[in-house]
Amino acid sequence: MLIVQKYGGTSVGTLERIKEVAKRVARTKEEGKDVVVVVSAMSGETNKLTQMAHSLSKNPKRREMDLLLSSGERVTSALLAILLTEMGHETIAMSGRQAGIITDSVHTKARIDHIDKSYIENELKKGLIVVVAGFQGITEIGEVSTLGRGGSDLSAVAIAGALNANVCEIYTDVDGVYTTDPRIEPKAKKLDKISYDEMLELASLGAKVLQTRSVELAKKLNVNLVTRSSFNDNEGTYILNEEDIMEKPLVSGIAIDKNQARITLRGVSDKPGIAAEIFRKLADEGVNVDMIIQNVGVDGATNLGFTIPENELDITKKAMEEINASQSLEYDKNVVKVSVVGVGMKSHSGVACTAFDTLADENINIEMISTSEIKVSMIINEKYGELAVRALHDAYKLDK
Ligand code: ADP
Ligand code: ASP
Ligand code: MG
Repeated sequence: MLIVQKYGGTSVGTLERIKEVAKRVARTKEEGKDVVVVVSAMSGETNKLTQMAHSLSKNPKRREMDLLLSSGERVTSALLAILLTEMGHETIAMSGRQAGIITDSVHTKARIDHIDKSYIENELKKGLIVVVAGFQGITEIGEVSTLGRGGSDLSAVAIAGALNANVCEIYTDVDGVYTTDPRIEPKAKKLDKISYDEMLELASLGAKVLQTRSVELAKKLNVNLVTRSSFNDNEGTYILNEEDIMEKPLVSGIAIDKNQARITLRGVSDKPGIAAEIFRKLADEGVNVDMIIQNVGVDGATNLGFTIPENELDITKKAMEEINASQSLEYDKNVVKVSVVGVGMKSHSGVACTAFDTLADENINIEMISTSEIKVSMIINEKYGELAVRALHDAYKLDK
């Protein structure tokens, strides 16, 4: 039986915490299981390194950022391996490169192309515990790459998939996936199970308990995924296929994404090819455009609104300058996206209306709306973000 365990930043945030993690890993090994551990950097480390780089340069090269940021995970992997060995468990630590994790060459948000699993497997065969530094790999030409924020989740899922592990356990600082961020709504309830699709929506809409791409990959490779706390032994949340969940709640959770900015381009000429030009340019720059609204044109001109991640605002402004669309650009950083997610929406009407009613009752203005089969998202002023989350949580009775 093979188990992949991933420990996030707070779980390995201090040497004391690393000792607790080592005990859990040792326990698993002593139960006779093969263990691959994937670790994050100690909490705050990735931010600290990022800030250091940005204090020296406004626009550090992404290649160097990868070299810099990947060091955080390597520190933790080495420390944990040193400790496990000291405890009498033969252990080997590996960087992404040493673990055979091959990515594309998009520095700072690389995608895993494949894993040469022989490196990890050879060590497991010898009976060793393998500790892999998360969040990183190497490109075909041997450059260090990183997988985007929260990417250690992806490392763990990819390794579990490649090695056909029995389960991939994501250890974090909460007991599992809740109906909403328990730091915002203390009445949030832990879910015993959630479908891949709902988890995917929640993650991509701001619930950072699991990184979006890790959920996507878990679904694709059919990895048995569970999130649980490294601070206790409580049962976690299982992420499963929708068919395997008997009782489907109408709404499973509420997510909030604070990393949002709204752009408005005024007086854009209303003719074929304009939207294509604007969004092609943004795509080329790697900007993640989300909601798009185009008004009905008047006198050959129209207004185009869309949302982007707030930290991509500078690239967006520059891109619009380059295609001469910046004279009419307005932006608002003080917005958040609040979303209601649930597979039950497929078969029930009225879910969206309840959301709009709820925000109206709180006197919160909705600036933009988008919906899919299983979610309703609303852009609102950030002042009311957390209030909206709590009001929606109440409205759908998620604390019951
Ligand atoms: P790690 O460092 O272990 O990867 P993260 O900080 O990335 O942990 O993710 C865990 C955090 O996600 C929790 O502390 C919690 O505040 C936040 N979170 C947001 N939405 C949810 C949710 N629906 N359920 C559980 N946690 C959530
Ligand atoms: N250390 C990286 C981050 O903070 C990756 C991770 O923790 O998953 O984003
Ligand atoms: Mg995380």
